[in-house]
Amino acid sequence: MLRVYCDHLDGIFFTHEHADHTAGLDDIRPFFFRQGDISVFGTERVLENLSMRFNYIFSSLNKYPGAPSVLQHKINEQTPFKFNDKTIIPIEVFHNTLPVMGFRIDNFCYLTDVKTISEKEQKKLKGLDILVLSALHNDPHPSHLYLEEALVMIQKINPKKAFLTHISHLMGFHDEVSKNLPHNVFLAYDTLMVISN
Ligand SMILES: [Zn+2]
Ligand SMILES: [Zn+2]
Repeated sequence: MLRVYCDHLDGIFFTHEHADHTAGLDDIRPFFFRQGDISVFGTERVLENLSMRFNYIFSSLNKYPGAPSVLQHKINEQTPFKFNDKTIIPIEVFHNTLPVMGFRIDNFCYLTDVKTISEKEQKKLKGLDILVLSALHNDPHPSHLYLEEALVMIQKINPKKAFLTHISHLMGFHDEVSKNLPHNVFLAYDTLMVISN
């Protein structure tokens, strides 16, 4: 966030409660000082889990002066919602047996910690310009797509471009892995910005 000079958060969309996707929540404090309550979006399960783990942020009781506050927005996979001037379409994917939310905004879609996606949810992924999809490394894993599986899924979803994210160091070096990817698939990296038309 410091490296890309991010000084404003429009909102925070939670995919699921795992620590590698939520532990940075403590750091919304300086944004809260500038902006006030920050909008957070998540399923009931995720918001409840975060309310326990980040009680000082989520609870309005006995609020410690200077602790950040959030505006909670409950979402589910069946109901698209409005955010600023956009319609956000939640996509439910499975992370082994755990439901995880992905998000489609126009023709951009972000899906992480994916192992499987039902046929019904895949229907929401037609006509994408950009798909961000998780791919862990080169070996099978019970709760994550590995590279080969992710490439098969990308072929099926057929976006114009796909970026792989949530990459383990075991995937290999960026340039070497990139050489062997299909022409429309790229490795994502920190600070990458993508523009969806
Ligand atoms: Zn996870
Ligand atoms: Zn993860």
